[in-house]
This record gives sequence, C-alpha cells and structure tokens, in this order.
Amino acid sequence: MKKLKYPFNKPFIIGDELEYIQEAISKGQLAGNGEFTKKCHSYFVKKHKLGKALLTSSCTHALEMCALLIDVKEGDEIIMPSYTFVSTANAFALRGAKIVFADSKPDHPNIDETKLEALITEKTKAIVVVHYGGIACEMDTIKELTDKHNLYLIEDAAQAIDSYYKGKPLGSIGHLSTFSFHETKNIISGEGGLLGVNDPTMYERSEIIWEKGTNRSAFFRGEVAKYNWVDIGSSFLPSELTAAFLFAQLEHIEEIQLKRKKNLDQYFKNLKVLEETNNVFCPNIPDYATNNAHNFYLICNSEEERRGLISYLKSEDIMAVFHYIGLHSSPFYENKHDGRELINVDRFENLLVRMPLYYNLSTEDIDYISSKVLEYFSKAQ
Ligand SMILES: *Cc1c(COP(=O)(O)O)cnc(C)c1O
Repeated sequence: MKKLKYPFNKPFIIGDELEYIQEAISKGQLAGNGEFTKKCHSYFVKKHKLGKALLTSSCTHALEMCALLIDVKEGDEIIMPSYTFVSTANAFALRGAKIVFADSKPDHPNIDETKLEALITEKTKAIVVVHYGGIACEMDTIKELTDKHNLYLIEDAAQAIDSYYKGKPLGSIGHLSTFSFHETKNIISGEGGLLGVNDPTMYERSEIIWEKGTNRSAFFRGEVAKYNWVDIGSSFLPSELTAAFLFAQLEHIEEIQLKRKKNLDQYFKNLKVLEETNNVFCPNIPDYATNNAHNFYLICNSEEERRGLISYLKSEDIMAVFHYIGLHSSPFYENKHDGRELINVDRFENLLVRMPLYYNLSTEDIDYISSKVLEYFSKAQ
C-alpha cells in the first residue's frame, strides 16, 4: 500500500522511552513484574482509582482474564455492544459464553442503556460496556441494573484513558476493567494492556491467573514458603521492556492529552458547520462524559457518500478509515445471533468515518485535512 502523507495513525516517542528500556536492561530483569511494571500499576491505581492494577500484554489478554475471573462457563450469557472490537466478545466466547449483542444509542455508538434490561435472563452473568472513543457509557443506569440483577459489570476502557463519567475515572466503576496501549491508542507501548480489579474478593485470584496459575507473586512477597500451581492461568504479563516504554509515556500524559485535545477541538471548530450544510455529524458528547480525544469521526448520510469521501481524501494524501462491522452480523457470529435487528449498529457500521488523529499532527495539519473534507462536501452538494 502506498504511504500517504497523512496516515490514519502514527506511533510516537515523547520522553525517556529508550533510556528507560536501557535502564531496565542494566538492572538485569527483563521478565515481567519488575520496577517499571510496579510504577505503571501505581499510576493507574492513583489516577484511575483502580482497586488493583495488573499490566498485561494486551487489552485482549486483560479481557480474557476477566472471563477467567468471573468463571464464565459454557452457556453463560454475556451482554455487550455489537459495535466494538472483536476482542471484547472473543475473550468470553473462548470460555464458551453465549454473547448477547445489544444495540448502540441512536446518537452515539455506545451501548443503549435503555435496551439492556430486556436482554437479561436467568443465564446472564455479566454486562460488558465499551466506552467508545473514550466517551463514557451511561454508567449510573447500567450499574443500577447490574446491582439489581446481581451481575458482574465489566468496563472495556481500551480507548478511555484520562476520561471520566460524572467525575469518576473510567475503569473504576465496574468490578473489572481493561485498558489498551496498542499503538493506535492515546498512550502506547506497541502492544500492551492493563486489567483493573475493583472488587477486593478478586485481588488474590487476579494475580494468580496473571502469573500462569501460580502463587509466585505471594511467594516473592514472602507470604508463602513455596510457589505452586494453585489455579488455571496463563502468561498474561508483559516484559519490563514494554513496561519501561509505557511508563515513559505515562510521565508525559498531560502533554500528550493537551495536544490531542487541541487537535480534536480544531476538527470540531472546522467541521461542525457540516451539520447545518450537509447533515453530516460530528461526535456527540453527552453532559455526563468527558472527551479524552481518542478519536474524531463524522457520520455521513449514506455509504456511497462515505466511500466517496474516503477516496477523495486518499487522492489528497489523507487516510480516513471506517470500522467495526457489527459483531452480530460477523461471519463467525451471524448464525449464533438471535436475529434481533440492531439498527443503530448497522447505521454506524455504514456511515461512520474516522479522521487521522495522532500526537504528531499540528493545528495546520488538522486545518489542511479539514479543508479537504469541506471541499468534498461542497462538491457533493
Ligand atoms: C483496541 C481495543 C481492544 C484491543 O486492545 P489490544 O490491546 O489491541 O488487545 C479491545 N477493545 C476495544 C474497544 C479496543 O478499542
């Protein structure tokens, strides 16, 4: 594929990433759970108010740990949005769960909290929410439901670092939560993720599952005399090299977020006019949510219009992309889905298009990209 001047995403280095990797090497521990891992854990416990934090090799792995921690069994039902990344569902499908897909809200890709109670049955074990684009779901309503029906609440906060719901940091509300540091997210380590554990009854077991089913962490703290195989688990922890890179990024989170938010505001400022002129919509941010500048997208009028925009931008050296084919209509799940139509999922699948947004874009770059978007729509009229 030809490299465009404005790719959709560009990974970046901002601080002491390379020095910290060097430092980890000098210290002589490259395997996981060393000093840099602990520094990252502290950051998240403090800033996202997590009960306990465990770095993982990906958000996908953190989600798989969630399925193990809540003991998903064959036939258990897990309710989640259809409009999400495949890992949200796959982690639970791996344990034999039946995935019950819910629709998005009419005005936002997030799960529609008003449609959830009707999906709860005797077999429901958990509701997994995804804070799409880092924008909070309506958590009060959803938490009331999970409390009432005695269900686990899990937050896929992969895109939601530095974001809040009514002042509460995302990831701190559910029993469990997951974050991603994949190179397309706000804070990156190449591949990488984190599990947040807010239910104290799961603290001990989360560490065991993380350490391949052993009580190795307790052994190193001197709490047990030998370490043993005590439960199922896997190798979910990343090496210190990953943690060193990640910690260097976390030290600069304010600077990163400031720039991303400035660029996002610039997109809004330049493109909000399309709502009036072309019935094309910018992201809708509810009052209860903050915007962590994870992404910027437009909602087009038709698939043709979107296709035209993407190819016009490509001809101007700009890579815009669409995403999330509703999981309920995916080749793997289509014949397992119960047939309910999810009209808002279909709409976002067909009409949403994402613009480039990454740390190294300048205000001038955003202005250039915006001008090409406006050019397309003025011609389309
Ligand atoms: C990126 C993402 C994931 C997967 O994260 P990895 O770290 O790549 O495994 C899961 N869920 C959502 C909503 C995501 O955006």
